[in-house]
Amino acid sequence: MRYEGPIYRPPSEANSLLIQATAGCPHNKCTFCMIYKNGPQFKIRKTPEIKEDILEAREVYGEHVRTLFFPAGNTIAMKTDDLCEICRFSREVFPHLERITVYGSSQFIHKKGPEDLRRLAQAGLTRIHAGLESGDDVVLKRIRKGTDSLQQIQAGKWVMEAGMELSMYVILGIGGKDRTRPHALESAKVLNQIEPDFIRLRTFVPKVGTPLLKELQNNEFQMLGPHEVLEEIALLITNLHGDSYLASDHYTNYINLEGKLHKEKTRFLEQINAAMEKDESSFRAFFIGTA
Ligand code: SF4
Repeated sequence: MRYEGPIYRPPSEANSLLIQATAGCPHNKCTFCMIYKNGPQFKIRKTPEIKEDILEAREVYGEHVRTLFFPAGNTIAMKTDDLCEICRFSREVFPHLERITVYGSSQFIHKKGPEDLRRLAQAGLTRIHAGLESGDDVVLKRIRKGTDSLQQIQAGKWVMEAGMELSMYVILGIGGKDRTRPHALESAKVLNQIEPDFIRLRTFVPKVGTPLLKELQNNEFQMLGPHEVLEEIALLITNLHGDSYLASDHYTNYINLEGKLHKEKTRFLEQINAAMEKDESSFRAFFIGTA
């Protein structure tokens, strides 16, 4: 198997076979994201090459691969025909596959439209990881996400209607101190309309080489402290009315919340209240990681 550039995958794909179909990100402008700031430029690999890697993986791992993830930013931006072809081929080569997943930002999902999304679902694509980041249009514009709340709602609904699973990511604290309330409230509104299968929380941590780190250094962005992040989660969760599975499955988070919203909402809020009692110095270091 051949790989190019950073190979980035969410923790939920830790046990998945990783086959690279694209490299880089066709957007590459989000101010908080460091992944492809030093390249490579977005490119789509040739379908025969991708198939060679799938066959090689079968040689190495045998036929009992259950989950497959095509990493790199926005593999959904591949031509629908090509993505369908590699999904179908993967299912032939690995007959026990239960899940095939890609990353897809809302603007690229939206470009596909409902018909292409249905075709992808029929070809065996089963889950899309999409960075909502925020439902607040002011924040989305500031972080240069390249989409807005309306487009995110429409794209998200289309994925669900096509019969695929949707995993949406919210970045806690990405609105800074001045947008923490609208960020939580507008994100809840968007998520309530989509009701994705999964809502996954990440807490904003500034990364080396990103425009948002510069904004922070220039005092143009004020980061939330641990208690403020916890208040933001409480506001978000209080205003979520769907039954998505909530997961804070990431090292950046101050608290571990895991479960279905309907059943666990009260417990989540109790857990947050208990965490609020703790001194801020007992949480993880404010700045973590190196990139
Ligand atoms: S769309 Fe995703 S990979 Fe691309 S710049 Fe934004 S966060 Fe990074």
